[in-house]
Amino acid sequence: MNAAEDTNHYFLKAARIMDIGQRIERLLMEPVREVKAQVAIELDNGEVGVFLGYRVQHDNSRGPMKGGLRFHPEVNPDEVKSLASLMTWKTAVVNLPYGGAKGGISVDPRKLSEKELQALTRKFIDSIHDVIGPQIDIPAPDVNTNPQVMAWIMDQYSKYHGFSPAVVTGKPVDLFGSKGREAATGRGVRVATEEFLKTVGRKIADSTFVIQGFGNVGLHTARLVHEAGGKVIAVSDVDGGYWNARGLDVPKLVEYAKKNRGSLKGCGDGETIANEKLLTLECDVLVPAALGGVLTKANAGDVRAKVIVEAANGPTTPEADEVFEKRGIPVVPDIYANAGGVTVSYFEWVQNLQNFTWDEEKVNGELDRIMRDSFARVHRIATERKVSLRTAAFIVAIGRVGKATVLRGL
Ligand code: NAD
Repeated sequence: MNAAEDTNHYFLKAARIMDIGQRIERLLMEPVREVKAQVAIELDNGEVGVFLGYRVQHDNSRGPMKGGLRFHPEVNPDEVKSLASLMTWKTAVVNLPYGGAKGGISVDPRKLSEKELQALTRKFIDSIHDVIGPQIDIPAPDVNTNPQVMAWIMDQYSKYHGFSPAVVTGKPVDLFGSKGREAATGRGVRVATEEFLKTVGRKIADSTFVIQGFGNVGLHTARLVHEAGGKVIAVSDVDGGYWNARGLDVPKLVEYAKKNRGSLKGCGDGETIANEKLLTLECDVLVPAALGGVLTKANAGDVRAKVIVEAANGPTTPEADEVFEKRGIPVVPDIYANAGGVTVSYFEWVQNLQNFTWDEEKVNGELDRIMRDSFARVHRIATERKVSLRTAAFIVAIGRVGKATVLRGL
């Protein structure tokens, strides 16, 4: 199955339980718009670099579409389509007034200078500025994009449409960003984990964690579970993993990554371990926080975690999901577990539209409340209907999106 088929597989599993009918199923699976754009820039060496950019807008029945922008060599139309649809279900699970979208440029940003990256971002916005906007589609950071990239997006879009901070979220706090946005996805993952652990009589403070990925999501998740007393025994990034059964020195790793453009290479903490092996380490909580499709039929049988909390989007293939269900390993699904980022993006958008700023306490308090309330609803449905947390989350989301679609009419 490709990534889009994986997402639709999960969608259909819940849709069939809900018996929404084939016509509504079809309506909710197909994106409303898909854009593919050539992004050509002049490279520092004078040559022309030609890249492909995508924006898929999946559903807007509940509000403007919302979703990140990814810079990665493996970005492809199928993956963007899958991620766009996940955004529709995610915004609905946590009941934000948004639909779903996603974008990406197929590029290895590590091979570009800052000047080239800026040109690439601006050129992409030149191509899509007509189909995004504060009331249409609002991009945000994702893999390899950061507050600086969001600032360029705001600036470029504003050249066409006038001053528009609300066109993009995840901006620097000094440029209409929201306090608390940077750590929001990791903070949401921590709350999701806490809420799940409560249902099995456990706490973060008496649990061990393995975290794949040490970027925006992985770093803040590691930092926040460490602050809550959890023992982080392994972390990794694209260059490899680090493992210490007695617990890694998380504050030291955070400092190291910050000083080394996000990389842990050469951090010297713990033993080195291959990314593939890291996923099968014995631990209480396994947190994939890097890319999609990392938990597969091939390694699901070897996973020794007691619960998987999906901080990344789409880390578990349907085949692996089935193995986990059979083995009794609960999976806290991406469309709920990593919704903290889009939730605080929503707060940022609200602040931009109102020209008003919230303090960090308010942001974090509202985020925690939404994550806790959403967990309670998903968990209740999972218990009542005897389905997995993932199917329950899809049931909540499809119910909300389906109702809005029918009420609005065609
Ligand atoms: P990021 O670019 O900040 O970090 C990605 C991390 O993954 C880096 O540490 C990188 O080295 C590592 N990585 C890349 N390839 C790897 C590999 N093969 N093995 C191990 N590690 C690898 O990206 P991010 O924003 O932290 O996003 C991570 C995941 O979380 C993505 O799936 C993204 O869609 C999802 N997500 C992000 C947000 C957000 O707010 N940024 C919100 C929701 C979901």
